[in-house]
Amino acid sequence: MLVAPQVKAMLFTDWDGTVTIQDSNDYMTDNLGYGEKRRKELNKAVLDGSMTFRDSFSDMLQSVKKPFPECIEYLKEHIELDPGFADFYKWSVESGIPVVIVSSGMKPIIHALLAKLVGQKAADTIEIVANDVDVHEDGTWDIVYRDESGFGHDKSRCIKPFAELPDESRPMLFYAGDGVSDLSAAKETDLLFAKVGRDLITYCEREAIPYHVFHSYKDIHEKIKAIVAGEETIESAIENKNKAAAQETLASHHSSH
Ligand SMILES: [Mg+2]
Repeated sequence: MLVAPQVKAMLFTDWDGTVTIQDSNDYMTDNLGYGEKRRKELNKAVLDGSMTFRDSFSDMLQSVKKPFPECIEYLKEHIELDPGFADFYKWSVESGIPVVIVSSGMKPIIHALLAKLVGQKAADTIEIVANDVDVHEDGTWDIVYRDESGFGHDKSRCIKPFAELPDESRPMLFYAGDGVSDLSAAKETDLLFAKVGRDLITYCEREAIPYHVFHSYKDIHEKIKAIVAGEETIESAIENKNKAAAQETLASHHSSH
């Protein structure tokens, strides 16, 4: 359970494709399940609203027939860490800025990959808010969703208690993500870091959600460091400022009539 800390800033981060280079669930679906073509059709269906993330994700994972422990070993062999994450994480610990992983993936996979890629201490320290897995006796397995939402795990829910804190105790809230599973969290924080060239940017552009684009965690590290030190403002970091402001004006006009 997350408890409100007296901290200056917090970073909530997606795991797959954000802290890691490859998305581990896409990787399993593409290489151990029914493959990339079908997976991309389902990604598209989620973006255009014709399918829930929850249903699409279950469909993909059900096509993976390998026993769960073998899936973990397979992923440990292939999934790589973002080149800037380890340094950023070290800095965040020294600076007292909590990092919380909020993922639509499965906790045992994230824990195993964190231990391998960043270290056992990081794996045991970083809070992971994610879905779980039910491994049956015959080795088959099913994802166990965290909540009843169409996302399976509505990522905004663990951020809201912090976003709703009174101004004097509310930390600056940052979020980093790359994909469709981040849609539910995209609007909850003060600054959203969205990965270059990914679906989350498409969504932010369409919905005029303010964001700052990142290529690797080095960009996130630099930006958060500058903002926390007071050298830069959140406002100045937003890339689609004019569009986002125009959308807000439009929304307030609608609600006032
Ligand atoms: Mg992702």
